[in-house]
Amino acid sequence: MASISLKKLNKTYGALTVVHDIDLEIADKEFIILVGPSGCGKSTTLRMIAGLEEISGGELRIGGDLVNDVPSKDRDIAMVFQNYALYPHMTVYKNMAFGLQLRKAGRDFIDSQVQDAAKILDIAHLLNRKPKALSGGQRQRVALGRAMVRNPAVFLLDEPLSNLDAKLRGTMRAEISKLHKRLDATFIYVTHDQIEAMTMADRIVVMKDGHIQQVDTPQNLYDRPVNMFVAGFIGAPQ
Ligand code: ADP
Ligand code: MG
Repeated sequence: MASISLKKLNKTYGALTVVHDIDLEIADKEFIILVGPSGCGKSTTLRMIAGLEEISGGELRIGGDLVNDVPSKDRDIAMVFQNYALYPHMTVYKNMAFGLQLRKAGRDFIDSQVQDAAKILDIAHLLNRKPKALSGGQRQRVALGRAMVRNPAVFLLDEPLSNLDAKLRGTMRAEISKLHKRLDATFIYVTHDQIEAMTMADRIVVMKDGHIQQVDTPQNLYDRPVNMFVAGFIGAPQ
């Protein structure tokens, strides 16, 4: 079970509060998208869920367990970043295998996990290449593969497509949606792209200045925005 619960979650830097008392209940296997303008606290929220950022106040639960003080490596999550963050000196295979090696998984298990993920992501023919020999889309697939091999209950994706061109973004949107259905994991996905949010999400969380403005399905957000900010943001052209 990978339901996620945020209760009055806060993040402060000195006197500056960047995430204010966020309440959010995410169901097991839901595809949740956080949207909002640059600087509104999307990445900070995701990084607190990942355990990469200390929580200043409130409660974070994953699968019902309080995880405020659980280190990142002990949370059942994997994170995919915008800049891919691949190891340049390692092959694609090694990039995908590395996290499992660190966790002392067996060689046969690692190999089957890497081969399976590579097949699903259509990168099986690239396993011996180094990242610099890959296109942007291929690198993003490797980054997804690196997350997949661990079978995490929760995927956190921070603007994973924003470095890709428009056409590839469209393809990868569909791929990630397919992946979500296939993996049956909970996905929390950050973007500032309304089209991504409207086409991929089960529910969208609209943020502004560290506050949640509205949490709803794409259809309800579009039909019944609670304020002008939400209406403007959802309706704004790219
Ligand atoms: P988003 O991902 O929505 O663009 P972020 O979560 O990255 O926004 O940032 C939210 C706010 O927190 C921004 O105003 C940013 O400048 C601030 N912030 C992020 N990291 C730090 C930090 N280490 N120290 C101080 N302020 C920070
Ligand atoms: Mg961000």
